[in-house]
Amino acid sequence: MRATIMDGRALAAKVQAEVAGDVAGLGDVGLATVLVGDDPASHIYIRRKHEAAQGVGIRSDDRRLPADISQEELIAIVEELNDDDSIDGILVQSPLPKHLDEAKTIEALDPAKDVDGFHPTNAGLLYLGRPALVPATPLGVMRLLDEYRVQIAGARAVVIGRSNIVGKPMAHLLLKANATVSIAHSQTVDLGRLTTDADIVVAAVGVAHLVAPDMIKAGATVVDVGMNRTDAGLVGDVDPGAAERAGLITPVPGGVGPMTIAMLLANTVKAARARRVANPAG
Ligand code: NAP
Repeated sequence: MRATIMDGRALAAKVQAEVAGDVAGLGDVGLATVLVGDDPASHIYIRRKHEAAQGVGIRSDDRRLPADISQEELIAIVEELNDDDSIDGILVQSPLPKHLDEAKTIEALDPAKDVDGFHPTNAGLLYLGRPALVPATPLGVMRLLDEYRVQIAGARAVVIGRSNIVGKPMAHLLLKANATVSIAHSQTVDLGRLTTDADIVVAAVGVAHLVAPDMIKAGATVVDVGMNRTDAGLVGDVDPGAAERAGLITPVPGGVGPMTIAMLLANTVKAARARRVANPAG
């Protein structure tokens, strides 16, 4: 058996076309990004986010701040963006330089503009199963599962990884969709025993090819969030041989990665729409 490949690039293009239509309907949507310092990878991510925003007609405000900015100055900029009515979404690019407190910075965001879904208010709403701005990567995974008509209700799902940006929100989204969810992490004993029993496996670890083919149940759906730079190029957390056992599988690259940016844009539209409902004159 050879798995069907879940094409994240094609679906991301479809989502972006939907978002472009929504932006045109809303008239004007603004996304602000805050980048502190000179991390080269962060510069690439921010550039891609701005290109994608422009591609769907979202106006973007690109704030570049010096690496030695103080916590107070950074929070003052976040608050200025919170108060700016022309801005619907704000994201602070991670990682911040060591002297800055990431949690404190995220907590300064207006939760209604927190398009990354990292603010404790949004994380708490997700935990409660209530509408919220949800982190883009797990949201993109849910959209992929939906597109490929994966049965989630009643399914056994294993999420490998428990980070606040991928693993935990992923598990909550699957739970909300009525899967029976297990969360695995670095202290999990006998990971393969969990995964071989799973109908859906989502790997969000950061260890190249951690998930071996014999850890996958025949016909299971396998989503690989991992992005690991190796001598062989960019590889996922799942051994490509798993495609011989899975029913559906995401490639790396071209699976979850493109969906993340598309769902960030979708979150920006969601925030813009909610703000206009909350404040029709604004
Ligand atoms: P992270 O914060 O480093 O979390 C990794 C998680 O994996 C932790 O919960 C860790 O457990 C767990 N883990 C580590 N080794 C393990 C092992 N041997 N067995 C089982 N679990 C193990 O990483 P992240 O931010 O969630 O990202 C995970 C991966 O996804 C990375 O490769 C990242 O580059 C990628 N990513 C991709 C996208 C995308 O758009 N495609 C977006 C975000 C992240 P502990 O909690 O016990 O330490």
